[in-house]
Amino acid sequence: MSYCDVKTVETDVIIVGSGSAGCMAALTARRQDCRTALVDKGGIYRSGCGAAGEDHFVAVLEEGEEWDTPEVFQKWYNTLTHGLCNPKVVENGFLKHIKWLTGYLEDLGVKMRLDGKEYIRTSSYSAPGRYWINFDGVDLPTKIAAESEKIGVDFFPKTAVTDLIIEDGRVAGVAALEFRTKTIYLFKCKAAVLCTGNVTRMYDNLSGIPYNTWNSPYNNGLGQRVAFMAGAKLANMEFIGFNVTIKNFGCPGLAGFTGMGAHLVNAAGERIAFKYHPLGEKAPRWAICKAVHTETQEGRGPIYIDARPLSKDDLEFLLTNLLPVDKKSINDFFEQKGLDLRKDLLEVEMTGGEIPPMSGHVGGILVDENMASSVPGLYAAGGNALALTTLSGAMCAGITAAQAAAEYAGDFGNVERFDQNQIEKIKERIYRPLEDKDGSISYIEFEDKIRQIMSRYVRVGRTEAGLRTAMGLLGRLEEYIPKIKVENGHELMRFLESQELLTCSQMIARGASVRQESRFGLSHYRTDFPETKDEWRKFVIQRRLDDGDVEISFQPAYQL
Ligand SMILES: Cc1cc2nc3c(=O)[nH]c(=O)nc-3n(C[C@H](O)[C@H](O)[C@H](O)COP(=O)(O)OP(=O)(O)OC[C@H]3O[C@@H](n4cnc5c(N)ncnc54)[C@H](O)[C@@H]3O)c2cc1C
Repeated sequence: MSYCDVKTVETDVIIVGSGSAGCMAALTARRQDCRTALVDKGGIYRSGCGAAGEDHFVAVLEEGEEWDTPEVFQKWYNTLTHGLCNPKVVENGFLKHIKWLTGYLEDLGVKMRLDGKEYIRTSSYSAPGRYWINFDGVDLPTKIAAESEKIGVDFFPKTAVTDLIIEDGRVAGVAALEFRTKTIYLFKCKAAVLCTGNVTRMYDNLSGIPYNTWNSPYNNGLGQRVAFMAGAKLANMEFIGFNVTIKNFGCPGLAGFTGMGAHLVNAAGERIAFKYHPLGEKAPRWAICKAVHTETQEGRGPIYIDARPLSKDDLEFLLTNLLPVDKKSINDFFEQKGLDLRKDLLEVEMTGGEIPPMSGHVGGILVDENMASSVPGLYAAGGNALALTTLSGAMCAGITAAQAAAEYAGDFGNVERFDQNQIEKIKERIYRPLEDKDGSISYIEFEDKIRQIMSRYVRVGRTEAGLRTAMGLLGRLEEYIPKIKVENGHELMRFLESQELLTCSQMIARGASVRQESRFGLSHYRTDFPETKDEWRKFVIQRRLDDGDVEISFQPAYQL
């Protein structure tokens, strides 16, 4: 093959994805004295959902208030997730590190106290207390990346991971494509930590432009796909997420508004959130989305944020200190639209659907309290794992995963030689579209088809027949993969992403057809099984077998 420039790199622990979880994981693994490689298809210093910096930091600080304890947090999180997140993962992958992490970020110079004196803490999404610190996280990603670089983490930017290399039933390496030069990297490693975040671009959104999402559009499910292909267990993949975003401004902001006491109103000016949940605007996010969706569907839209009930000081704080932290252009946007939130309403809309990177989401790679997957040597943290997937949750889970991966790596040497059959297959899969000049369809057509199928049959209002149709159509799409053509390295990366989207879409549809109930509002709404049922308070687990079949199993929810 003419394109084959292959480089081999030896390391101990490889971290895939350099967002919130990945950078923290890399820093931690290197501090355990491991050779550590950090690979991202974007830049290392800023990438992923938190690239622009963020403004809310979920923390339990034990400062004296009744709700500010690990026990109360655990209870709330167990209720929020219906017991579908392992409390030991929350304990070991979040609560164990959060106080230390908050202090560490302050020491690094991240502005955790906006007025320099006290933490400003607010409450959102049904929490019993003010777990969200309003902070200025603009510098957070760059500061953690700089620390990693300083202590010798090896950076591989613009390098898209494509496959895991498994030898003797455990992770022995990772394959990646540096798409600007079309070089394939083969990393020999002893353990890998997957930190590739949530999954976007599987559903149409209102703008009609797949990349116009509030999430990072480049998180497409690599972690979930490679874990699945390696035979790891993934759980609850049927649940998708929606978010309420400011119309024509592809970024969330709702937690900022509702956390401080703004209302959600319909076109008639009626406050809507209490109709759908007793906690009103402080309800879990899925209930807010259900409110916005139902009011709109039933002809009472558009829906607006009404910030007028806020006190003058709170509104001023929101507009000048909080929203512009990670939404630099928000005040320009208000100005261009002629909006003054002191007197005007702000129209919102619901996103198209994604595997979300947010608190309360319960789908992903199934991990134990060390963030270890069911494949030896494979760990996961952040949005691709079934754990607490907020910014602080991802960072804490990154610490736990890297500590465990480093310890595991100590027991092994690198493989001397990869199995060449496996490597040839990987090279063939990556390079085939560049070699084959007879390809007849573009990755864009292929990806559009996934979105059409998912939006039509696997969004809100799922039915047995629709899901069966979706599974059939998604399966048939596999036949078109050999017909996709690409012109350059960039398109080659997109081609590989489209397969990540396909695998994740199939997992969502498969899980949705198994779970014969509805749960978490629109996240999994079956019109043929509209009730939430106690007997379905359990994990739906998928595992790919060696012959390609998928085994489905169940695990009861956790009761606290
Ligand atoms: C606009 C926005 C605002 C948010 N605000 C907040 C907030 O204020 N507070 C909060 O708690 N949460 C917030 N979140 C959620 C928060 O960003 C996520 O919970 C967190 O970033 C998850 O971390 P992660 O490491 O799992 O994913 P990410 O930080 O998204 O990182 C994933 C990384 O994987 C890389 N990657 C993907 N595929 C590949 C591949 N094939 N090869 C190599 N690398 C790959 C990506 O480039 C990316 O860098 C916000 C999210 C968004 C989108």
